[in-house]
Amino acid sequence: MKCKFCDKPAVIKLRAYNLKLCGEHFTSFIEQRVEKTIKKYRLFTKNDRILVGISGGKDSLNTIYILNKLGYKTEGLYIDLGIGDYSKHSKEKAIAFTEKFDIPIHIYEIKKDFGLGITEISMLLRRKPCSVCGVIKRYILNKFAYENGFTVLATGHNLDDEVATLFSNVLSWQEGYLARQDILLPRKHDKLVKKVKPLALISEKESAAYAILKQIDYIREECPNAKGATSIFYKNILNQIEEKQPSTKLRFYLDFIRRGKKFFEKALKEREDALHSCKVCGYPTTREVCQYCTIKNEVQKRSG
Ligand code: SF4
Ligand SMILES: [Zn+2]
Ligand SMILES: [Zn+2]
Repeated sequence: MKCKFCDKPAVIKLRAYNLKLCGEHFTSFIEQRVEKTIKKYRLFTKNDRILVGISGGKDSLNTIYILNKLGYKTEGLYIDLGIGDYSKHSKEKAIAFTEKFDIPIHIYEIKKDFGLGITEISMLLRRKPCSVCGVIKRYILNKFAYENGFTVLATGHNLDDEVATLFSNVLSWQEGYLARQDILLPRKHDKLVKKVKPLALISEKESAAYAILKQIDYIREECPNAKGATSIFYKNILNQIEEKQPSTKLRFYLDFIRRGKKFFEKALKEREDALHSCKVCGYPTTREVCQYCTIKNEVQKRSG
């Protein structure tokens, strides 16, 4: 099997694009695709200061690596969620990566705010760890970006993440979530930083291959709270469909962005109109008190 562009042997076959590529042409294909996504969806420019949320996993490390390589101004934020060995190991990977590639990193420990890690908080509040974790991560990433003068917040969501979320939201017709699913979420409140997903058109498999070829050492271990997650179940189903019909995932996602999303404009407008400042912290919310402040208050009440 030979590379489509040179005489070297191909190391990967991309069925979605009908391409066989050598290592060098594959990595430049991924970088060009990310650059094209940035330009096409106007995610940011070279004047922006971009904060990338890094977890120690392949997608977030690839995101900051590629943006840095393309010449964008980036810094990473690792949030220590206090989830036992998983957090310890992922933090080690994130720090080792930033030292190896000379990329600035900030570390935020949620135990400083709550005195507890995600698993303990969720047990105390009798809520699912991932729902608590999602609220806390989103809040800290946005707040840190806003307070430190970043103009863009980038996350490492890949195509498989995006398609699994879309699939799940379509199955239950979650209009509010469907309205907000996109590669770019614009700034709709003074204290809300623009959010982007530069890897949204790169599949999980492509992302893993890119990290290996670039010798980006990432955490392979799954978060213990991810066990049995519905998103993993949906990803497996979507992979089976992709196996039979290559490029289905990409088409499903892009067609939603191009043609499906417009049907949810009313829900989007309703949410934007309902957005105001949290009575406690001043950050955006559709409630009187934002979910982060609610969690913090409950933790203080129950652990005090
Ligand atoms: S699996 Fe759940 S708890 Fe673990 S990092 Fe992801 S969102 Fe947080
Ligand atoms: Zn080649
Ligand atoms: Zn608040």
